[in-house]
Amino acid sequence: MARYTGPVCRLCRREGTKLFLKGTKCLSDRCPLEKRNFAPGQHGQSRKAKVVGYGLQLREKQKAKRIYFTLETQFRAYYEKANRATGVTGDLLIQQLERRLDNVAFRLGFAISRRQARQIVRHGHVEVNGRKVNIPSFQVSVGDTVAIRESGRKLVVVEAARDYAASNPIPSWLQPDFANLSGKVLSLPRRDEVNLPVNEQLIVELYSK
Ligand code: SF4
Repeated sequence: MARYTGPVCRLCRREGTKLFLKGTKCLSDRCPLEKRNFAPGQHGQSRKAKVVGYGLQLREKQKAKRIYFTLETQFRAYYEKANRATGVTGDLLIQQLERRLDNVAFRLGFAISRRQARQIVRHGHVEVNGRKVNIPSFQVSVGDTVAIRESGRKLVVVEAARDYAASNPIPSWLQPDFANLSGKVLSLPRRDEVNLPVNEQLIVELYSK
């Protein structure tokens, strides 16, 4: 399965905003964006063109893609599906991204970042309704119970994530059970329940050209 393996802080610098891809480091003064808030590369500091129109739409799409750690083909497929369904396309797009198993594991506090959650899922430490699921893009449904399997309960990263989770509010569409390292999907996420610094309308405009 293809994935981005380059330096992630570069992605934040490219977008000029914190995408919170590295957990606790993002909240500390070790975040590179604190000192080098300009685009990466040789000309990053000198070229600061005003972004408008198509450029703005493109940046919003790249931002969302990078926050959820998806590649273009998969992201586009989410848009196509949202566009075919009944409802507000932008909201449905965000809903699909939020329903990804790696995102749910992150939101429930099993990991300090989506990237780490993705690895926990890939390594088979997460189960849905009692069955192991190692596909990060797996879409959870209402009523599903997502939990850390026995094999993952003693993982240092999972234990460390508990403290981190305590300082991050769990979205209302999920019901966590911290004692059992599990959580239940109460409803599908509405846009106002998703804390995401992205203007999805611009993404819809970009793809519908
Ligand atoms: Fe982005 Fe976090 Fe790196 Fe800061 S530390 S640049 S927020 S990934």
